[in-house]
Amino acid sequence: MANVTLRNVRKTYPGGFEAIKGIDVAIGDGQFCVLVGPSGCGKSTLLRMVAGLETISSGEIEIGERVVNTIEPADRDIAMVFQNYALYPHMTVYNNMAYGLRNRGMPKPEIEQRVREAARILEIEALLDRKPRQLSGGQRQRVAMGRAIVRQPKVFLFDEPLSNLDAKLRIAMRVEIRKLQRRLATTSIYVTHDQLEAMTLADILVVMNGGVVEQIGSPLEVYHRPATTFVASFIGAPPMNLIALDGSELRHQLGEHGDATTLGIRPEDLTLTNGDAGDGGLALKLRVDAVERVGPESFVYGHPGDHQGEAEIIVRVAGEHTPALGSSVQAIASRAKLHLFGRDGRRLEP
Ligand code: ATP
Repeated sequence: MANVTLRNVRKTYPGGFEAIKGIDVAIGDGQFCVLVGPSGCGKSTLLRMVAGLETISSGEIEIGERVVNTIEPADRDIAMVFQNYALYPHMTVYNNMAYGLRNRGMPKPEIEQRVREAARILEIEALLDRKPRQLSGGQRQRVAMGRAIVRQPKVFLFDEPLSNLDAKLRIAMRVEIRKLQRRLATTSIYVTHDQLEAMTLADILVVMNGGVVEQIGSPLEVYHRPATTFVASFIGAPPMNLIALDGSELRHQLGEHGDATTLGIRPEDLTLTNGDAGDGGLALKLRVDAVERVGPESFVYGHPGDHQGEAEIIVRVAGEHTPALGSSVQAIASRAKLHLFGRDGRRLEP
């Protein structure tokens, strides 16, 4: 079993900067955990601490029931896949994949068997005699994965492995990584700043900001019930509309909720209609400032009237039929789709 448990993990870099400010995460055997957050939030630092490439200032990291704080990277039974692939340029694909196993003194027939099996799974058998410079970016990425797979580690660690690939290949590789991980059922921790990658890959999503965890949950939990305004604006594209309630007339529409200072509504939960918002729902009058059509859907940008604050509101509509620029429209949302946050940015339950 390879659970990974982080208990009150902290990291202060030499010089005194506290990059990780006390993080608790429990990842079950075989689960795919994604660490996501903006640049500088500490996700790579945390991954490198699990790998043993950074020291742990305090707290505990456990891999498969064993505290690894003082255990060398090579003895942690993990394999890491990096963004830049970190392949040896002068070695063939075969030797790149075999290298780590030879270093461990594994018998040659077993190395051969493991490399061939990984190459078969990754469909790179035809590339085994090539050097990295003779490969495309996507093929290099597969070789980097192959090198991790042959080790049959307890845990895979991925540090933004797809960020050097173009958009189309990124999506294709994302699907492949997920299929591969399910097939091998190896516990995985994956770092990305791309929220879509995070949503599609994760069993458990850990949303980080400024060295702390903002929320841990399944992707849909995080999407449907963001714990903070930060998570609300980070997960989802276009992001959730966040409207300040202080001094806003919307407060009257909302009635009770005296503690709420911010109202959140996802663009996809707003509907343009002249109809009624229904019981406890909300109606916003908007003047249309801009429209983006992307084919299957369109984004309508509008400003509420003066009395409703200054924030621009985005409404996501199906298809291409959008209101004229400068026209006045009404957007409604049902009560169940409203998110309320308090002064500290934390979610308030209705
Ligand atoms: P990115 O997506 O840009 O890679 P990240 O979320 O992975 O960002 P980290 O690389 O973990 O962020 O860095 C977290 C914070 O720690 C940043 O403010 C960074 O400047 C700082 N940091 C990273 N490495 C060191 C170091 N060796 N010494 C001092 N500070 C560091």
